[in-house]
Amino acid sequence: MTTAIETSGLSKRYGNLTALDGVNLRVERGEMFGLIGPDGAGKSTLYRILATLASPDTGTAEVCGLDTVRDSRRLRTLIGYMPERFSLYQDLTVEENLRFFATLFGVSVRENYDLIAPIFGQLERFTNRKAGALSGGMKQKLALSCALIHRPEILLLDEPTTGVDAVSRAEFWEMLAGLRRQSITILVSTSYMDEATLCGRIAMMDRGHILALDTPQRLVENLGENLYEASASDMFGLLTRLRAMPGVTDCYTFGATLHVVAGQGFDPARAASALGSYGLGDIRIAPAKGTIEDLFIKLTRDGQQ
Ligand code: ADP
Repeated sequence: MTTAIETSGLSKRYGNLTALDGVNLRVERGEMFGLIGPDGAGKSTLYRILATLASPDTGTAEVCGLDTVRDSRRLRTLIGYMPERFSLYQDLTVEENLRFFATLFGVSVRENYDLIAPIFGQLERFTNRKAGALSGGMKQKLALSCALIHRPEILLLDEPTTGVDAVSRAEFWEMLAGLRRQSITILVSTSYMDEATLCGRIAMMDRGHILALDTPQRLVENLGENLYEASASDMFGLLTRLRAMPGVTDCYTFGATLHVVAGQGFDPARAASALGSYGLGDIRIAPAKGTIEDLFIKLTRDGQQ
């Protein structure tokens, strides 16, 4: 396997704020690699450096073996970058946008159409519509087509599914799976933890740091050992009581239930009966399967201690 992206000690500050703090990252060619983290984690800053639009303060970044600062001009032809906010020209039509991006890179739409056909084909009925009048899902498909029209080796997608409806989100990930089969390396960021499982490997980021990096399966492997889900008729009362209970390390809302992180000696049946004595009804405590979201909560909690 050869390396597609490699950063070493990458740091970037904005005034007093450290957006990236010594990031070491390596993505192999052909990977679908996810950057997972909340707003402010530093994902867009990392993208801007990889896309040659910003320089690091310290450290280096190489994409396709080229330095993002020294070799920026050559590199731009090898990457397709879809920034967080759509890069489209709102007053141009769908077709004009696509042609514009092709011209920028000195290619014709026809020569590379096969690559975008499964994506752009879904917009064919709207080719004369202004980009500004498209729905979020359609804008996303057009932006992806524009980022691909010069047949890049590496696709940099910064939160492509933010603000897009659930059906379009699912469709988008299917399109990415199709591109990956064409050997395009994809670095995709998201703040939706459920999307992490669709990547081959992920890096979990927070406050300019990579907290963990591995396959989504391996990352959550050992999380379930001391994790429980709990519910009761009074969820707020349950949360308060569980948080104060000896042997409970953490308790937080998780969908319609609570997730409880407990120490070794935690006995769910004994906990349920203790909670019952406080007047709580319909108590249910059962082992839970750990998710990326649980890991994220654990890693940020450990980082604060
Ligand atoms: P993410 O994409 O994960 O939301 P960003 O890279 O956009 O993270 O932001 C990381 C941090 O850097 C945030 O605290 C953000 O407010 C700050 N930041 C990003 N861009 C700028 C900028 N141009 N000027 C000042 N602060 C910035």
